[in-house]
Amino acid sequence: MTLITDLLRPDQPSFSFEFFPPKTDQGEANLWAAIAELERYNPTFVSVTYGAGGSTRDRTLRIVQRIAAETSMLPMAHLTCVSATVEEVTAVIDELADAGVRNIMALRGDMPGGFDVRWEATEGGLSHADDLVRLIHTRGDFCVGVASFPEGHPESPDRDTDARHLAGKLNAGAAFATTNLFFDAEDYFSHVEMVRAHGSDAPIIPGIMPVTNVAQIERMTAMSGATFPSRLAERLRAVADDPDKVAAIGVEVATDLCQDLLDGGAPGIHFYTLNRSTATREIWANLHPGHS
Ligand code: FAD
Repeated sequence: MTLITDLLRPDQPSFSFEFFPPKTDQGEANLWAAIAELERYNPTFVSVTYGAGGSTRDRTLRIVQRIAAETSMLPMAHLTCVSATVEEVTAVIDELADAGVRNIMALRGDMPGGFDVRWEATEGGLSHADDLVRLIHTRGDFCVGVASFPEGHPESPDRDTDARHLAGKLNAGAAFATTNLFFDAEDYFSHVEMVRAHGSDAPIIPGIMPVTNVAQIERMTAMSGATFPSRLAERLRAVADDPDKVAAIGVEVATDLCQDLLDGGAPGIHFYTLNRSTATREIWANLHPGHS
C-alpha cells in the first residue's frame, strides 16, 4: 500500500477526509454514502478514527480494509494508547500491517470522561503519542501521522510547551501532523512557527470542521479544547432554527478559513466530515471554481 509520505508535495496541497466508525446500520449507510460521494474528489488520503478506549478496534479495521479493497482511496487508520498494554497495541499494529494498512495516525487518546479526567497510562501501556510513533516504526515500514493543537492542547501549560512536544513527536518519526479543529487562521500560522522554532519542518495539515449544527459544534469544540468564536456563535444562534441558513454560514466560514490557510502556505486541508459529504463538497467546489 502507498505511504501518505510519498503523496505529500510542497507544490500541491493535499485534500483529505476523516470518517468515524458508526454504531448503527443507518450510520453505516450514511458513512458509505459519504465515502461514495467524496471518492470522485480523488483525496490524497482518508482517515478512520479509533473510538474511545479502543471500543471501535474491529470496526475501524473493517472500514479501513473495505476502503482499501473497494475504493480508489488510500486509507489511514487511527490508533490510541488508551486502555491497552504495549502487547495489545502491538497486536493491533501487526493486524493493520497484515491487512496491508501502512498509514497510521498515532494518538495518545483520552481517559473515558475526556479532558476532565487526569490522563494515566494503562499499566504496561504507553504514556504519550511519541512512544506510539516509535513503537509503530519497530513493527515495519509505516507512514505515521500525529495530532496537533493550534490553540495548544488543553492539558499543556502553554502553547509553546505543546508545540515543543509536537516537534518531539514529529522528530520521533512522524511524517506529518493533522490539527484539531480551529476557526482562526492566525492560531494555525503562529502554531506552525512555534513548531518550526522547536526544530521540525514536517507538514502540519489544518483540520477543518464545517459547522452544520450549532449544538454539535458546541459539543465538538468543548470536547476537543478548541475555541468556538463568540461572533460566529452569535451569527449562528440568530439562525439556529433554520438548518439551511446554519449550513450556509458554516460553508462560507469554512471556505474563507481554508482559502486563508492555503494562501498562507498551508500544505493541504483535512476535512472532518462527520460521515456527511454535503458541506465538504460545497467547500471543495468553492475552493476549486470551474471544477465540479
Ligand atoms: P500526546 O501527543 O501524548 O499529548 C498529550 C499531552 O501531553 C499534550 O498536552 C502534550 O503537550 C503532552 N505531551 C506530549 N508528549 C509528551 C511527552 N513526551 N512528555 C510530556 N508531555 C507530553 N482520539 C481518539 O480517541 N481517537 C481518535 O481517532 C482520535 N483522532 C484524533 C485526530 C486528530 C487529528 C486530533 C487532533 C485528535 C484526535 N483524537 C483522537 C484526540 C486525541 O487523542 C486527544 O486530543 C488527546 O488528548 C491528545 O492526543 P495526542 O496524540 O495529541 O497526545
